Amino acid sequence: MNDLSRLAIHTMTTKPWDLQTTAEKYAAAGVPAVTIWRQWLEGQKLTEIRRLMDDHGLRVSAHCRGGFFPAIDAADRQAAIDDNLRCIEEAAEIGAPMVVLVCGAVPGQSLFDSRQQIADGLAACIDQAAAANIKLAIEPLHPMYANDRSAINTLAQANDLCDQLASPWVGIAADVYHLWWDDQLEHEIVRAGDRIVGFHVCDWLTPTNDLLLDRGLMGAGCIDIPKIRSWIEQSGFDGWIEVEIFSKTHWERDQDQYLEEIKDAYLNHV
Ligand code: ZN
Repeated sequence: MNDLSRLAIHTMTTKPWDLQTTAEKYAAAGVPAVTIWRQWLEGQKLTEIRRLMDDHGLRVSAHCRGGFFPAIDAADRQAAIDDNLRCIEEAAEIGAPMVVLVCGAVPGQSLFDSRQQIADGLAACIDQAAAANIKLAIEPLHPMYANDRSAINTLAQANDLCDQLASPWVGIAADVYHLWWDDQLEHEIVRAGDRIVGFHVCDWLTPTNDLLLDRGLMGAGCIDIPKIRSWIEQSGFDGWIEVEIFSKTHWERDQDQYLEEIKDAYLNHV
């Protein structure tokens, strides 16, 4: 029987709410954890964000997001590394156990170069992650984003990257939206084992009207989420199950009603 004890929701899911409203609404709805996107930190003191979460009994499931390591110019690659080092510090200050990484890709640059730059960028962040006790969670993105958001597109590639970096501070965030189509998914989840530190859920709508902003509520699409969850839990994962839905349609709706539907979809379709 599912209950809400492992439910986390991304601030991006209920995008119209600021952090204060998010904390109040999630706490009142019995949602125990929140993944805080970086935009919600702007103009706020990190210590106050932590206090806001504590005051509402909320845990921070993850800090989202770092990454975007590849760049044509070396100076831009270094700037990306510096930004990720800041992101790790932010995560520690707001009480998040991990930084989720959208690894990056640059139109006009080969994926092979981008992948090497991602490996180099990650390697440059490991010491800081270890010092801050923060995991770096590689999130493979659906191949439709390969040219501009992430050159890491399968769980196999994320596993290869983890093999290459060989650090306990580098793990994987598995998002059903990006991985559901992969016929090697079960095998790669077994291979990943305890590298999987984050699990994101939503659903794939058909037709998908926007490549980025048309994700569905769990149960509204074609992804067999309970099966993927069972594989991930068989491999040892027992962490937060994070609802991450980018949806222009849902953002335009009444967010209180939407939050109730998220809980309902989580209880019945995850
Ligand atoms: Zn995700």
